[in-house]
Amino acid sequence: MNNKSLILVVEDDAAVRNLMAVALDTQGYRYHLARNGAEALIEASSHQPAVMLLDLGLPDMEGVDIIRRVRSWTAMPIIVISARSEDADKVEALDAGADDYLTKPFSVDELMARLRVALRRVNADGSAGGESAVYENGGLRIDYAAGCAWIGEREIHLTPIEYKLLCLLARNTGKVLTHNYILKEIWGSYTASDVGSLRVFMATLRKKLQTGGGEQPYIQTHIGIGYRMLKQDVRAEEVP
Ligand code: CA
Repeated sequence: MNNKSLILVVEDDAAVRNLMAVALDTQGYRYHLARNGAEALIEASSHQPAVMLLDLGLPDMEGVDIIRRVRSWTAMPIIVISARSEDADKVEALDAGADDYLTKPFSVDELMARLRVALRRVNADGSAGGESAVYENGGLRIDYAAGCAWIGEREIHLTPIEYKLLCLLARNTGKVLTHNYILKEIWGSYTASDVGSLRVFMATLRKKLQTGGGEQPYIQTHIGIGYRMLKQDVRAEEVP
């Protein structure tokens, strides 16, 4: 249903660029190609793509600088694609405003799945017209006005910090939130040692969200990077 969306591919490696172009074409997406940061900024501003797929290692600019520039005028999802295995690059890109990341070499199926998640997020944000009062994701329901959360019919008893964490993740469903971002949002400041406390809070929260029904967890852990709230129905649909 999103197959007419315009996707911007930013990649200096011609082979990878062609691979992505063929994959997008096969799935019926429209796409524009940019070979460097300068072209990426021109394309992003003049054609307003729905999603940007951004290679972090470009000849003329740092990928992180492109993200910061683009973020100054648009909230369009940015999926970072990086050949570098260092988590620091991904964390920096996510902190600058990227939504998700893939590490090269990546599978085309995985890329398409991430793209669909990003497009769902755009469409969900648009149709809701901002924040709705009740959040629903699979069996999880949060009533923001009442300050309560349920799994199915069961109310989950959360501490104030756990509730804040849950709301933060829910408001950013589908997006990877870094440790630093979460610490800053919840506690206002952070040091490296706070990541340990965050891990403890998240472990408790995840336990409280368990249904015992053998479902996939709501909160996905990205080791060394952060956490993401998964959209339950989208994921089920994407299991081949
Ligand atoms: Ca590159």
